[in-house]
Amino acid sequence: MHKYLNNDKAELLLLARQLMPGGVNSPVRAFGSVNHEPVIVESAKGAYLTDIEGKRYIDYVCSYGPLIFGHAPDFIVDELREFAGHGTTYGFTTPHEVELAELIAEAYPACEMLRMVNSGTEATMSAIRVARGCTGRDKIVKFEGCYHGHSDSLLVKSGSGLLTQGVPTSPGVVPSLIAETLVCPYNDADALEQLLNANQGRVACLIIEPVAGNMGVVPPAEGFLQHVRELCTRHGIVLIFDEVITGFRLDYHSAAGVFGVQPDMVCFGKIIGGGLPVGAYGGRRELMQQVSPLGPIYQGGTLSGNPLAMRAGIAALRRLRDDKMIYPALIENTAYLQAEIDKLIVKHNLPASTSRCLDMFCLFFTPQRVNSYAGVMSCDTEMYRRFFVGMLEAGIMLAPSQFEAWFPSLAHDKDILDTTLAAVDKVFASLQ
Ligand SMILES: *Cc1c(COP(=O)(O)O)cnc(C)c1O
Repeated sequence: MHKYLNNDKAELLLLARQLMPGGVNSPVRAFGSVNHEPVIVESAKGAYLTDIEGKRYIDYVCSYGPLIFGHAPDFIVDELREFAGHGTTYGFTTPHEVELAELIAEAYPACEMLRMVNSGTEATMSAIRVARGCTGRDKIVKFEGCYHGHSDSLLVKSGSGLLTQGVPTSPGVVPSLIAETLVCPYNDADALEQLLNANQGRVACLIIEPVAGNMGVVPPAEGFLQHVRELCTRHGIVLIFDEVITGFRLDYHSAAGVFGVQPDMVCFGKIIGGGLPVGAYGGRRELMQQVSPLGPIYQGGTLSGNPLAMRAGIAALRRLRDDKMIYPALIENTAYLQAEIDKLIVKHNLPASTSRCLDMFCLFFTPQRVNSYAGVMSCDTEMYRRFFVGMLEAGIMLAPSQFEAWFPSLAHDKDILDTTLAAVDKVFASLQ
């Protein structure tokens, strides 16, 4: 057990804040947007998370998406135990990478060749490099409210008008680089058409979350992804689906399978690592053949294809492929959660709405149905803060931000969902 396990939480927080910016290794963990003391986790199992003070929570964060089976599922823990003794990294090719690549390629027809990396950020950054390298064009298109990791080109918010230049979301991002990033409203095919017409022959790629999962959950409007596909084909633009959340979550064939739209390239992360740090990017063979050492576009990684991460990912994907009950169960549970929360919204007459796409779900504190970033921005974040704190006190862990999806796992059974709903009922009552 680690040195600080039995220390006073206040002391540990103090030390953490001296050693790491905000005391965290990823900003959301500081609980800034809910203005609350952060939770420090001791352990987790199934649907439950236990903090260092011994308090137990039903967890709907599930590490922001990777834990589709819940925390520490025995079959993955056993796999890791068994393999750790064989070495934890080599710097050489292993059969495990080939096996995981084969599983992904079989599930995702557009992913004919792929590369393993260590995070979603690395995957999107690398895919964009390949698209630029292959097309010889500089500009990229992204959508408002979609998150693709923290690489420089992608940390952009839109300027005041649609066709104006974006501005960096963070100091340290060079404005001349951001000038190559065009930002378009999500679910607005007309705006996209205008944007592409105004930038003929200059756009290398378009990157999109096929179901937006980083502004709460915003599903694509009917026909939107098909329209995006057509426009990319017409303009010779590499279409990149960022399936870091949706990949193997919505369905075993991911969003591309669900919506029947094939991208030219795809990025994965989260679920394909079975709870360990993994990302992957891939796509059509002619594009991926341009990646070093086969082609001139450089990308590499010391720990990429890490054998432990591969074993965890293989175990997860095999189970997701072979157990036909998994996705129907996840969807049924998520639909139940949504239907019951919808009833509670009516019962308590709250200015709130829910949003769901298959097994991706979230609750917005705005009365309107949300289908755009503007809609998301109309949410009452102060009400979310009060809801979050109430739920936390009731032993339910939600993301410490209005703008995240809920991630119920297979370990969230009916009893656990009902316990959650009872807490929602109580906390809703306190919000009036
Ligand atoms: C989480 C996420 C990323 C970034 O992945 P990291 O592993 O955090 O770098 C990229 N795209 C999407 C859609 C994500 O949800």
